[in-house]
Amino acid sequence: MPTFRFAPSPNGRLHLGHAFSALLNARLAARFGGRLLLRIEDIDPGRSRPDLIAAVIDDLAWLGLRFDGPVRRQSEQMDAYRANLESLAARGLAYPCFCSRSEVAAAANRAEAIRRDPDGAPLYPGTCRHLTEGAVAGRLARGEPHTWRLAMDRALATAPGPHRFTAFDTQGPEHLAPADPARWGDTVIARRDVPTSYHLAVVTDDATQDVSHVVRGADLLAATDLHVLLQALLGLASPRYHHHSLLLDATGAKLAKSRGSQSLADLRAQGTEPQALRASLGFS
Ligand code: GLU
Repeated sequence: MPTFRFAPSPNGRLHLGHAFSALLNARLAARFGGRLLLRIEDIDPGRSRPDLIAAVIDDLAWLGLRFDGPVRRQSEQMDAYRANLESLAARGLAYPCFCSRSEVAAAANRAEAIRRDPDGAPLYPGTCRHLTEGAVAGRLARGEPHTWRLAMDRALATAPGPHRFTAFDTQGPEHLAPADPARWGDTVIARRDVPTSYHLAVVTDDATQDVSHVVRGADLLAATDLHVLLQALLGLASPRYHHHSLLLDATGAKLAKSRGSQSLADLRAQGTEPQALRASLGFS
């Protein structure tokens, strides 16, 4: 059965951009005769608060959205992420990195021209890729904090591509879109504090939940390049993707709580009715 998901990160209250994305998922799930799942992407222990998760669920219910099946919380799936991380590490496709953020930035600054990944972070210069096995074992045994990075060159040698994903439009027609995972370099696939990153968690869950159609904002288009590579390395099915355009504020910037965009909670408090809000976003 076609399976869609809305997957907010509970780092703040939902805003109109989230509402648009959730409503579009619901519309397409209905159009394709499929189901719609709700997944809470709460891998960040510092920022995901129980009250925010409850508020997300409440805002979505207020909007009139109904989800199928139980709500999945990523914080409860750490064993699955760890298993996929270990599978990559065992094949030499991921390695521990002991560099701090400032060390990575300093090393990147020393390079002739700073190359950046699609999120704007400097590409990792590979410092820890060259550590000896003994040095790595010693530092791990001492419990030194570390992230895990994808060994991009080995990953591309294992899954040479050409990499592509199936893109679909809202009426159904599909086409193959080229993906260029190399532009992410040796990106972090597991953070210091949890055995995953957004990228590893999302491909693990989309596969486990049999998600067939991913509908998300155009800000995640470049991430899909990395996701198809991880799917190939982990032997996971690749869903179809639709990246919708983002709602912008009056200055042309992407909506974000950090920029003071109005939350659904603000609009509710001002007396906005859910029907009117849906209509303003083009949903009846
Ligand atoms: N959790 C992500 C966000 O809130 C979305 C992830 C996805 O749809 O793949 O931006």
